[in-house]
Amino acid sequence: AFRNKLEFFAAAKASSSFPAPNLPEIAFAGRSNVGKSSLLNALTRQWGVVRTSDKPGLTQTINFFQLGKKLCLVDLPGYGFAYAKEEVKEAWEELVKEYVSTRVGLKRVCLLIDTKWGMKARDYELIELMERSKTKYQIVLTKTDTVFPIDVARRATQIEESLLQNKSVVQPLMMVSSKSGAGIRSLRTVLANIARF
Ligand code: GDP
Repeated sequence: AFRNKLEFFAAAKASSSFPAPNLPEIAFAGRSNVGKSSLLNALTRQWGVVRTSDKPGLTQTINFFQLGKKLCLVDLPGYGFAYAKEEVKEAWEELVKEYVSTRVGLKRVCLLIDTKWGMKARDYELIELMERSKTKYQIVLTKTDTVFPIDVARRATQIEESLLQNKSVVQPLMMVSSKSGAGIRSLRTVLANIARF
């Protein structure tokens, strides 16, 4: 699936404008600055062409990208900006929640967590929601190059243990660095396999 051409095909500010769910879908979520754009870029090697701005203060949309006619990649707006207006925050959080808990064809949510900082309250909120809606998700530790390998392993164990009681989480978690390229191929393989079923 990842050999196909990546094409932007929809941006949604409300669930009423989500495109028809014709393809298996994989969504990417996480706090702002977690490395989501860099990861999508590394995975597809084509992101630069289509990437729309995802910076604080600007309009937040859910962006849908098609990889050939095989797979839809969904870029969810980052959450947790310290300085976004409260009403803006609430609007996009509602949108993300609605997408994650109701979307037909959503096969997997990759929840990106910065290896150095670990899980925060907002991440747990999203996890709770996905557990309630039985949405399959998996944790992807990002920026593994920023800490020592022993700390990557510690973080992975800590998170996996905190999720042992959860039913919708897909273990083991994945670990990537968009900078060094570590883990990118493995993640691509995992995601391509999802598209096949
Ligand atoms: P987003 O806000 O989640 O889309 O995050 P970006 O992909 O824009 O990355 C946020 C910052 O983290 C940027 O300065 C990136 O250069 C940096 N970054 C992203 N991925 C990595 C990584 O794997 N390693 C390191 N060291 N820095 C990264």
